Amino acid sequence: MIAKVIVNHGTKAPDKLYDYLVPTEMEDKIEIGTRVKVSFGTRDREVEAYVLGTKIKSNAKRLKSVIGVYDRAFDEKMLPLIEWMRNEYLCTYIDIIKTIVPRGSINKPLEWIILKGDAGDIGDVIKAHGGEMEINDLLSCFSSDISSEIKKLLKSGELTREFRDNREVKSLTVRVVESLVSPDEIQDVLKSLSARAPSQARMMDILSYGTDISVSDLVKFSDGSYSAIRALLNKGYINIFEKTVLRTPVKVKERDEKKTLTDEQSLALKRITDKKEKGFSEFLLHGVTGSGKTEVYLQAIEDTIANGKKAIMLVPEISLTPQLTERFIKRFGERVSLLHSGLSIGERYDEWTRIKENKADIVIGARSAIFAPLDNIGIIILDEEHEVSYKSEMSPRYLTHDIARFRAKQHDAILLLASATPKIETYFRAKNGEIEYIEIKNRISKGGLPKVSVVDMRDELSKGNRSVLSQLLKSEIEKNIKNKEQTILLLNRRGFSTFVSCRSCGYVASCPNCSISLTYHKYSDSLRCHYCGHTEHNPSVCPECGSKYIRYFGGGTQKVEEELNTLFPEAKVIRMDVDTTQKKGGHEKVLSEFEKTGADILIGTQMVAKGLDFPNVTLVGVISADTSLFANDFRSGERTFDLLEQVTGRAGRADKNGRAVIQTYAPEHSAIKLSAKHDYKSFYETELKDRNALGYPPFVKIATVGFSGTMDSAVSNAAKLFKRALVEQTAFSKNARILGPIKAGVAKINNKYRWQIIIKHNKNDNINKNLIVALDAVRKNKNYNDVVIVTDNNPYVIY
Ligand code: ADP
Ligand code: ZN
Ligand code: ZN
Repeated sequence: MIAKVIVNHGTKAPDKLYDYLVPTEMEDKIEIGTRVKVSFGTRDREVEAYVLGTKIKSNAKRLKSVIGVYDRAFDEKMLPLIEWMRNEYLCTYIDIIKTIVPRGSINKPLEWIILKGDAGDIGDVIKAHGGEMEINDLLSCFSSDISSEIKKLLKSGELTREFRDNREVKSLTVRVVESLVSPDEIQDVLKSLSARAPSQARMMDILSYGTDISVSDLVKFSDGSYSAIRALLNKGYINIFEKTVLRTPVKVKERDEKKTLTDEQSLALKRITDKKEKGFSEFLLHGVTGSGKTEVYLQAIEDTIANGKKAIMLVPEISLTPQLTERFIKRFGERVSLLHSGLSIGERYDEWTRIKENKADIVIGARSAIFAPLDNIGIIILDEEHEVSYKSEMSPRYLTHDIARFRAKQHDAILLLASATPKIETYFRAKNGEIEYIEIKNRISKGGLPKVSVVDMRDELSKGNRSVLSQLLKSEIEKNIKNKEQTILLLNRRGFSTFVSCRSCGYVASCPNCSISLTYHKYSDSLRCHYCGHTEHNPSVCPECGSKYIRYFGGGTQKVEEELNTLFPEAKVIRMDVDTTQKKGGHEKVLSEFEKTGADILIGTQMVAKGLDFPNVTLVGVISADTSLFANDFRSGERTFDLLEQVTGRAGRADKNGRAVIQTYAPEHSAIKLSAKHDYKSFYETELKDRNALGYPPFVKIATVGFSGTMDSAVSNAAKLFKRALVEQTAFSKNARILGPIKAGVAKINNKYRWQIIIKHNKNDNINKNLIVALDAVRKNKNYNDVVIVTDNNPYVIY
């Protein structure tokens, strides 16, 4: 037997199938999806490979043999999906396989260090961690290499060591590594590392695919060392932080009882479950915030399971939705499998195995859980289907909806897209009858949707109010504090966007490697580039003019927190942003603190807008609605509407009525005016008119092609050549608009110049064949070897 395999050997292996001879004794173990070991290349390195097919005979001369068999990574039903993704997203087999398969079946034992004597500083650290630590965790607590000291202490008997099986190792918090390299840049970083620092390259490769991973897992699965991690840390490619680990399978004592559905809910449920015997069908469930969509999911899934089938429940970001996952666990107990980023690679692999062995009926997770190895899917649900996190920003640049549709069709299953603010494109499809539309118009709570007031901040300024809070919002907060009701305040910006500038000369601190301003981090009093990781001290005088009037601007969450503390000294304020959730170990902690202590105010960035269901929250304030409005992207209006609708939807979800205050400098903007009335349909109509006039989706399709490299002229010339090669294909270019090349919104990242081409074309065209012709034209030209080209046939953000 011959196996056709894809070799996993970084960027070095071409994207093609290789034939390998299967030794007779392995024949019955090898089928589509089997993970095998083969030797590859002139130096015969042993590498991992995946079987994509088998055959009787090969035409290749001098066949090598398969050396070993690991396990089955995916089943044959995934193969058509892999082929489809490769054509659709113009990516390699191995990119897809790495996306759909969890890494790691290797189970090397871990070395633990146990404190026996005094052991100085090292002893203090171990003591603080409960008297014993995994060696890599211990090493990562120090900024210098302490391996030789540990050796000495082991000799003197102050420390001892033990080897333990990895799977037994479960601690409450883990030290987690995250990549700071943007998806666009990862190929360059890998290239630059692979020659001199192969284990660092392997680490970056692992980080570029998985979500965050623990320090010890990273060392283990890269066959690397702690010093490689330290080197990456020094280069600014990674960051390490503490993370609390949620554990599965979950033991539950409390149970969540099934609720009696309202009329609207039961009608929705009936329409969904009526379809279950009729093959594939797709729904949009459009229900206002607090309309009880989750209860509909729960009962639809219950029905699915009663029919002997399984369910995939997708959420935008699982660590942001602890309340939703908790409800599923309380309802379905141990038959739930949670695939979240807090799992170690080993645990993730275990979960994957548990699903394959039919020990779970419901898989809950973020985007990548759509690939969960369930064999008999009855329903796939996308909660908050409009969220950007459903789009992958690395290769393969897939949209989860498309993968979900593909799998649902394969399984004759139901696909349920749900949101209070559906994506314009999804709602458009529903209106055109392409998918079935179900609406829930009313909230469960009697008070209905919160009453929203819009405050024009220009008036506040002219009245002499320089505070970040308007008079109205201030007095509403006061009322809430008095009534012991809770308030959520949204600062509509990323936690990162405070920058430092000089009030005398206008100097803005910016990154030497990237064309972007540096971000101020109060915690460490430093400035940092969030594209390349460059970090420097916060200057006390302006480097340009020497003025000391240099300070950070942008009113980050800390700044608002300080102002709240001054205005309401008696109130308890909790801040939820990138800083606090990293330091304290997770959103759950911050949220449960808010719930348990009954704190008066929760202030945060976009994180506070999503999915929270606290009965005592009756007021929501939006400090600045406009930040996302003028983001220079055709979806910015839509995104602002979504965000405002979601965040105001946190108020008044139980028996007390809710209210909201939106502060803005653009009160006439349709996204603000109409979300204040909770009028999605009018917003949709306005937006659709604009999109039609300007030529945006859903009326056309957009694709982007990004180019990057170290020489600005080479990059722009490559982009020009690409465009010429497109234009020459007249049948295509007659009907498409090819814009650019123009400099990308961030024109330089990590010393790489960036250009892009935007293509608008007919919805029904398949332009991939045209793109391939143009790609080949550039790749054949040696002048552009250094230029990386990335295509995206459905970009979510266009800079
Ligand atoms: P959505 O997901 O649409 O925003 P949720 O599913 O979170 O709304 O429901 C809002 C609140 O109403 C939750 O606290 C939920 O427990 C409660 N709820 C939902 N359905 C019912 C019902 N049929 N009877 C009573 N309470 C319900
Ligand atoms: Zn200055
Ligand atoms: Zn930078």
